[in-house]
Amino acid sequence: MTTTNLPNNAALARAATPSAPFGTDVTWTNWGGNQSATPAFTVRPRTEQEALDAVRFAIREGLPVRAVGSGHSSSPLVQTGGVLMDMSALSAITGTDKGRRRARALAGTTISAFGDPLWEQGLALGNQGDIDKQQIAGALSTSTHGSGKDLGSFSSSLRWVKLINGYGEIVEIGEGQLRELRAAQVALGTLGVFLEVELAVEDRYYLQEEITYPTWSETAATWQTDIDANRHYSFLWCPEDGSCELLDLPGAPGQSMANRSYTKRYNIAQVQDEREISRTEGARLDRSYRIYPGGFTTPFHELEYFVPSEHGLAAVEAVQELIRTKHSAQRYPVEVRWVKADEGYMSQFQGRDTTVITLTTEPGTDYWPFFRDADALLQEFEPRAHWGKIHFMTRKRLERLYPELDTFIQIRREFDPRGIFLNDHTRALVG
Ligand SMILES: Cc1cc2nc3c(=O)[nH]c(=O)nc-3n(C[C@H](O)[C@H](O)[C@H](O)COP(=O)(O)OP(=O)(O)OC[C@H]3O[C@@H](n4cnc5c(N)ncnc54)[C@H](O)[C@@H]3O)c2cc1C
Repeated sequence: MTTTNLPNNAALARAATPSAPFGTDVTWTNWGGNQSATPAFTVRPRTEQEALDAVRFAIREGLPVRAVGSGHSSSPLVQTGGVLMDMSALSAITGTDKGRRRARALAGTTISAFGDPLWEQGLALGNQGDIDKQQIAGALSTSTHGSGKDLGSFSSSLRWVKLINGYGEIVEIGEGQLRELRAAQVALGTLGVFLEVELAVEDRYYLQEEITYPTWSETAATWQTDIDANRHYSFLWCPEDGSCELLDLPGAPGQSMANRSYTKRYNIAQVQDEREISRTEGARLDRSYRIYPGGFTTPFHELEYFVPSEHGLAAVEAVQELIRTKHSAQRYPVEVRWVKADEGYMSQFQGRDTTVITLTTEPGTDYWPFFRDADALLQEFEPRAHWGKIHFMTRKRLERLYPELDTFIQIRREFDPRGIFLNDHTRALVG
């Protein structure tokens, strides 16, 4: 996304302008290239005051507001015809507390920017996902996660947030306000614009990576043992030999990858001296934050569904059967991960230890019949969906799947009674 420093519409500039750099009619497109919008104003605040001015400007002008992080969501979360707040300039670690294992950061800080500063203070993020390019507020807003049956999503680690609400006021939510905090933990950008957050973090740790390539029957045979025995366990099941390469992952040397999995195990390792660090492919030993992120630089589109862990194996096997029997043109790996239950009202993990199933497809191809069939097939497992990926959720479904939906909507309305932070997509879901 580009923003300009100079307003190009002088009349609007005279009437009332945000104090931050802004552009008018700048087209925004997401990372995957499947979502775009042309907001009336794209504002890039550099300070809290500039962010506040932008929201107040929008309120005065009767314009809706959406914040954008790194634009890595492929659902229509960010679109607005009003004011788009590009939060990338609000980026810094603002404090750490080693004793309480806490870190504060401005909302636009990317996950990658937590690594070195936290490590220097003896701390690290407790878990991370496949990439670290997302801004922390973006990751929190969709309950971004990694893998590990005892590890929660980013949202589950949110302990405090400072945000601008729909009245154009800066407010704080901390652990003393659990009702509101559980709403803020996964808010889809609808409570307001996050300015700064505090996360529960861990003492810093090293991870030993182990990459293996089991056949499907081997994976199924050790299903529960692998989930239980590893801090991080995940795999990418390959429908055919060339599947791994589509995600820039190395295949099994000398063996076909068809019906095998690229399997990751990360466990804590003791390192006395950083000369022990190893970058050997498939057996790296390094600081935690250097192990988690993969490449994933070529755009793809994904649907990601979440089923209760007790149904994980059955759900994965049902998806494999769907690919084999009806959608054999789908060549991308199917990624499978685990996330611990949490309490965020709109968290996909609320009250459920979860198995995550990610279906990846190629931009420009007609993947809709595959996604629709997968959606229908997985219904028997009561799936929830990743807010930041393609999904078929409706208000009706949410009423069944999220026991605290009404509480969330009530809190959302308290923070933003006029709905200035809604767009069409979020209004249909939680308006
Ligand atoms: C290559 C790739 C790999 C991925 N890997 C994973 C993974 O391993 N695990 C996983 O769970 N997900 C993964 N995702 C999904 C991704 O983590 C989410 O879509 C995440 O929300 C993107 O963060 P972002 O900063 O790009 O936010 P955006 O996509 O820009 O925004 C997401 C939401 O956050 C809101 N938001 C952003 N900033 C603010 C703010 N300051 N205040 C209020 N609301 C705000 C936006 O309004 C929007 O509703 C991946 C996506 C891609 C493209």
